Order: sequence, then C-alpha cells, then structure tokens
Amino acid sequence: MGIRVSKFGGSSVADAGQLRKVRAIIEADTDRRFVVPSAPGRRTPDDHKVTDLLYRTQAAAAGGESIGPLFDLVAERFGKIVADLGLGFDLEPALADVHDRIRDGASADYTASRGEYLSGLVLSKFLDRPLVDPATMIRFDPDGNFLPEETQAAVNARLGTEDSGVIPGFYGTLPDGSIKTFSRGGSDITGAIVARGVGADVYENWTDVSGLLMTDPRIVDSPRTIEELTYRELRELAYMGATVLHDEAIFPVREAGIPVHILNTNDPESAGTRITRGGLDQAPTGRITGIAGRRDFTILALEKTLMNAEVGFGRRLLAVLEKHGISWEHIPSGIDTLSVVLKHDVVAGRLDALLAEIQKECNPDTLVVQPGMALIATVGRGMSHVPGTAARLFGALADAGINIRMIDQGSSELNIIVGVENDDFERTVQTIYAAFEKND
Ligand code: ASP
Repeated sequence: MGIRVSKFGGSSVADAGQLRKVRAIIEADTDRRFVVPSAPGRRTPDDHKVTDLLYRTQAAAAGGESIGPLFDLVAERFGKIVADLGLGFDLEPALADVHDRIRDGASADYTASRGEYLSGLVLSKFLDRPLVDPATMIRFDPDGNFLPEETQAAVNARLGTEDSGVIPGFYGTLPDGSIKTFSRGGSDITGAIVARGVGADVYENWTDVSGLLMTDPRIVDSPRTIEELTYRELRELAYMGATVLHDEAIFPVREAGIPVHILNTNDPESAGTRITRGGLDQAPTGRITGIAGRRDFTILALEKTLMNAEVGFGRRLLAVLEKHGISWEHIPSGIDTLSVVLKHDVVAGRLDALLAEIQKECNPDTLVVQPGMALIATVGRGMSHVPGTAARLFGALADAGINIRMIDQGSSELNIIVGVENDDFERTVQTIYAAFEKND
C-alpha cells in the first residue's frame, strides 16, 4: 500500500457539497491516508473566507470592540456545514472556547489558525479519521522561523504510527507552546511537510483549477494546461507570478523527491499538473513549459570603459544596494556594462540617494535609470541544448515589432527572460505563447 497526502484548499472545503466531493475523492483511493484541509474559503465571489473573518474578529477584539457580529459569521458558517452534512456531533463547545479566547485577547495567529482547526475537526468526523493537531508537530523558533529538521522528526514520530489522519493546515507552535501560522496560503506548506514526514509517494494538492496553465488566462485565451513540470521550472514560473502553490511548499517535497500533483476537486478525473524532479534522461524537445511575467521593474544601467578589468566594481555596486537593504532581481552584464534590475516598489522614494551613492562608489561613465519595465520569463527544461529556441522567441517578438530592452538567460538554459516596456507586457506574453503554442 502506498501513501498519498491530500491537501484540500479553501474552496474545496467551503461547504457541505464540497466536503462530499472531498469524501468521494478520499474514498476512491485507499492510499489517500492523510488529509490536510484549509479553512473554508469563498462559496461565491462575494463571499468571505473564514480566515479573513477570523483576522477581522481578532482585530475587533484588539480594538476593544464587540466581536459578536463577526464571530457569529464564523460560527454560522461551521454550524451550517455540520448541519448540512447531518453530522451528529456538537461543535458548540469548540466554537465557544474559540470565541472566549479571542474575546480575552488571543493573538492574531491563534485566532486565524482556528479556521483550519475547526475545519479539520469537522472533516475528521465526516471522514471518521483521527484529528492530529499540527501544534504537536510543526515547530518554529522563538523568532517565528520554521524549523524543518525538528518538525520532520516530530511528524515522522507522530504520524508514523497512524494509518490515517486529518491534519489541519497553516499552523504550528513556537517553543513556548503558543500558536504560530505560516504566511497566507500556508496550508500548502503543511501538506508538503506532512508528505515529507510520512514518506508519501505523492503529495496531492486539490484546488479549484485543473492544474497550472501555461500562462495567465487573463492575458491569453484558454492557455493549455501544463501536464508536467520540474520543481525548478515551477520555482522560476512562481517567482514571475504564476500562482498555484505557496512558494515555500515546494522545498520539503523537493528535498525528498516527492511528486506534487495539482488536482481539481470539482473535476477529479482531469489529469491536472504533476510537479517532479524530472529525469536526466529527458530528451531536449525545444518545447517550453510556461510563460510568466511581472510589470514594474526599474533598471539601473551602468557603463564604464574597461569595466571588465576593474576588480571590485560589481562588489562595490552590490555593497551599496546591501547597505540600503535592497535585494536585486537580475544582473545582466556586458563587457563595459552592468545593469541591476530592481523591483520598482523597493526603490521608490529612495532612488536619488541610491544613485548618488552608486555614483560616488563606482564612478561609472554613465548611470541611466530605466523605470517602467516588465520582465517576461519563458521557462522550459526542453529548451536546453536545442538550437533555435531563442531565435524562435526573438524572431516572433521582432515580427511583432516589440522592442526588447533586456535579455537574461541563465546558464541552465531553463529560462529566457526578456525586459520590455510595461506597455508591451501583455503583447509580449501573447506573442511568445503564439510562437510556441503548437509546442512541436
Ligand atoms: N486559511 C489560510 C489562508 O486563507 C491558509 C490556507 O488556506 O492555505 O491564507
């Protein structure tokens, strides 16, 4: 018998109807032994997420306001799920306890975590599986940094003896025993930690989309679904804005080589997207995996005669950025040129001070600021060692009359990044997608 860890996102546990789908999925495969739920999400576009309601309830308590009306929305939400499922158990004592703790000054992390806790409690009754509280396993240091080794050992020790279980997502504990949550969307991380801890064969991440699309459907009409991609490709696409999984969820499973399967609770038969380590034997195909991008970067372009021979130029430039607490995104370079790509919101308001200091420390011949740039990443393990991929991409952009302001290709040949004017962003994505659409 294998082990699958199945994490269900907020929309998959939003109401009784969704929970029935969850149960059908779990019962369809006996390998689905460990289930990690989020808190109930939106049922309709103008609905509330339970987590948002809980944060608001805590803020009301902290502001000295009555928490009654907001907490009632949370209580009604769970009450309706229990009633609609016909579960013969009383959630009232658990709800009353949460209510009193929030009223008496519970932290925002504790309060938010109760969405997952109560969701897990309901699901454990509905699936008739033990509830295993992550507070007993998922650990953070006193500064709130996640402790992977200790956590993995604790998960392994605790769940290694269980045949099955429901483990609420999103939180763990600080050394003093108080609750600490991951950042928003963090139930994905819990799922990955559990998958690693129990040595799962697959980490299933059930959402409301049938996998990761090749590009943003708001920019390209009905883009294809990516059937399979590697952890590294996902990282590159996610960095550029493709969202399907919490950024930090990939690390535990990647280290253990556990494949992640993105699946749709509302369409469980569809193939979804598999995220794997990828084999060395995969033949280069010239195909791309996905395209993602973001607007609003600022480029600082430096030029200096004989820069290539000047020892320490790059270090001095980066030291200035470090001193200002600015992290850089890319550093494309030429023989006598060096550019630094920065996020606009990171430099906004302090650009003048930064430029003055770079001028002083590096003394470039020219220092030009290019604001309003968009970066578009074309990612694909199939591109490496295939002549002509870049030509296809740049040829298509040239035919479309799009001016490329920057090019960056990592030595892994996994990713070609082009910089264009913000105004050309959508057209660039559409043009690249069209150039590779057939992917043959
Ligand atoms: N419920 C939390 C949130 O809304 C965590 C999660 O759903 O992954 O961010």
